[in-house]
Amino acid sequence: MSLSPTDYIWMNGEFVPWGDAKVHVLTHTLHYGLGVFEGIRCYETKDGPAVFRLKDHMNRLENSADLVKMDLPYPIEELTEAVKETIRKNGVKDCYIRPLIYYGYGKMGLNPEGAPVDAAIAVWPWGTYLGEEGLEKGVRATITPWRRIHPKVLPPQSKTVGNYANSILAKLDALEREYDEAILLNMDGEVAEGPGENIFIVEDEKIITPPVSSGALKGITRDSIIAIAEDMEIRVEEESISEKRLLKSDEAFFTGTAAEVTPIREIDGTEIGSGRRGKLTKQLQSKFFEVVKGETENYRDWLDFV
Ligand code: PMP
Repeated sequence: MSLSPTDYIWMNGEFVPWGDAKVHVLTHTLHYGLGVFEGIRCYETKDGPAVFRLKDHMNRLENSADLVKMDLPYPIEELTEAVKETIRKNGVKDCYIRPLIYYGYGKMGLNPEGAPVDAAIAVWPWGTYLGEEGLEKGVRATITPWRRIHPKVLPPQSKTVGNYANSILAKLDALEREYDEAILLNMDGEVAEGPGENIFIVEDEKIITPPVSSGALKGITRDSIIAIAEDMEIRVEEESISEKRLLKSDEAFFTGTAAEVTPIREIDGTEIGSGRRGKLTKQLQSKFFEVVKGETENYRDWLDFV
């Protein structure tokens, strides 16, 4: 999906015009992949733009940095405020937010010590990641031969830039074989997640998602869906899911900040359930959109008004 530029990007405490927000080609993270980022959304509500679970995203950013021994260059409270300032400065309402912490210019070689730690925050309007039609009709997914990174290789709970080489290869594999999205198994052959989404299945009116120990990222949308489902008195389990169980499920869907709640209608030629958005998927999806758009009095504490 191509970018829709806004006016300013926050870089190390200053607003830089979008087109000037550049880095040197010898930026350390660009070469070795150690940097951390977040993906957050802001939704327009009747009370003004609200960032969804901003504090939880910023806590995860801090944890991502800790896991790869990076020091944040600014206190997390300052970065959190900078997210809101960047939205205000650009006058956007519905947008995607990308904070990035990276090792900058001034040092080459693997040891990043001595390289500056830089921070940037960009915001831009971004439609549904897997397409408007995908939200309604569901997407076609494939189990990719690429496996989700093993925790002994890289920390899967850190949104480390380099981890996403694994996700990109999975995504490219799916696209090459004309699917919309990939599903990654872990090294034990259990379902882990999508390249940038968590996965849920529905079995006998119960929703099931792989545990974080599968290597899946502890997604904030995943956590929101679990809470919403429990409040709707839908049973939720975190259980390991085999390939066979996935293909036999009644419904399946992806969750993520970018993908929101996207039904999966087919996996590798097998229709999931009736081959369209399932009943529980639809209920959870509608509730999720009500919550993020501030259309319900519940879950107000998940909204951070800009
Ligand atoms: N898994 C991966 C690998 C991701 O990059 C993301 C997006 N952050 C997710 C799952 C979904 O997480 P969230 O709901 O917090 O966006």
